[in-house]
Amino acid sequence: MSRVHNFCAGPCLLPEEVYKQAADAIVDFQQSGLSILSISHRSTAFLAVLEEVSHLALELLGLDQQQYDVLFLQGGASTEFLRIPYNMLTTNAAYIDTGVWASKAIEQAKQFGKVEVIGSSADRQYSYIPQDIPQVNGCDYLHFTSNNTIYGTQFSAVPQSDSPIVSDMSSDVYSRVFDYDKIDVIYAGAQKNIGPAGLSVVFVRKGVLGNITRKIPNMLNYKEHIAKDGLYHTANVFAIYTTLLNLRWLRAKGGVAAIEKINNQKAEMLYHALDSLDFIHPLADKAHRSRMNVTFDFKEKEQGYLFDTLCQEANIQNIKGHRVLGGYRASLYNALPLASVEVLVAVLNRMKVKV
Ligand SMILES: *Cc1c(COP(=O)(O)O)cnc(C)c1O
Repeated sequence: MSRVHNFCAGPCLLPEEVYKQAADAIVDFQQSGLSILSISHRSTAFLAVLEEVSHLALELLGLDQQQYDVLFLQGGASTEFLRIPYNMLTTNAAYIDTGVWASKAIEQAKQFGKVEVIGSSADRQYSYIPQDIPQVNGCDYLHFTSNNTIYGTQFSAVPQSDSPIVSDMSSDVYSRVFDYDKIDVIYAGAQKNIGPAGLSVVFVRKGVLGNITRKIPNMLNYKEHIAKDGLYHTANVFAIYTTLLNLRWLRAKGGVAAIEKINNQKAEMLYHALDSLDFIHPLADKAHRSRMNVTFDFKEKEQGYLFDTLCQEANIQNIKGHRVLGGYRASLYNALPLASVEVLVAVLNRMKVKV
């Protein structure tokens, strides 16, 4: 593969060695003479994969196997927007609105009960994380989106509540040390930091389910998936295996604390460069900016055209902002090498001379 610096927001890049191992498994899985694409999800070989990945998924977040179940489901984070209220919302839930994904989660929850939006940054195009969020107690759950992939903002701590806490951590789970064990349900679309698209990973604290009287269709029922050990139906065998490869890579790197150090280095290097250039217009407030998705724009249109050209020359791809926000977005997920950030910073610095 030629050296492309891929800043894609999702599906994101995975480590080079994970691509190779996944490719090998497609041809011949563990020297079985069979492709990973063509083995049963109930085969001994796959059951071992599922057990190892479940274990590792919890261990790397510091979650206790006695306290949490983990599910690898099809449907992506957007299905969890629906599954969460289906399984947990009886009367009222509290949501924090920090952007498109949070809004979509809110819209789904409203079909099941009363949704109280207790904090929102909609007034300034979601460029910050709302502060002074009131502590609401006694609701079915509080939902927040830990990292706002589109806008480049990130929560620095878990919001306070005595109600169960639910978080969409699609774009920053496994990227940083966090109070994961203060959260009762963590969910994530796999395609940013976990593995290939087509999978969602859900961590459910034992005992948090079961307060619902409505009938829940099996495919949408977490309890049903848990009761069937994650194999209610055909699992996404290949995506789960590739997730295992990626989590093994993360463990070999030293785990979440070690990768966080590198992620901080990448983010600091890029923000430092952006902050030092007066023709850059940041799209997120400094105090709340994300270490995973860095959003910015240029003050003049022509500067954007120049940047596009320089990126092309430097083999930088997928750095355009999300269509709802425009501008640019550099996603710095776990597998993005520091060297790619160095190339991007060099491009930005070259613009200093040219504009
Ligand atoms: C990408 C993303 C989603 C959507 O995930 P799908 O798997 O495409 O449904 C939801 N929430 C956040 C925070 C995301 O970054």
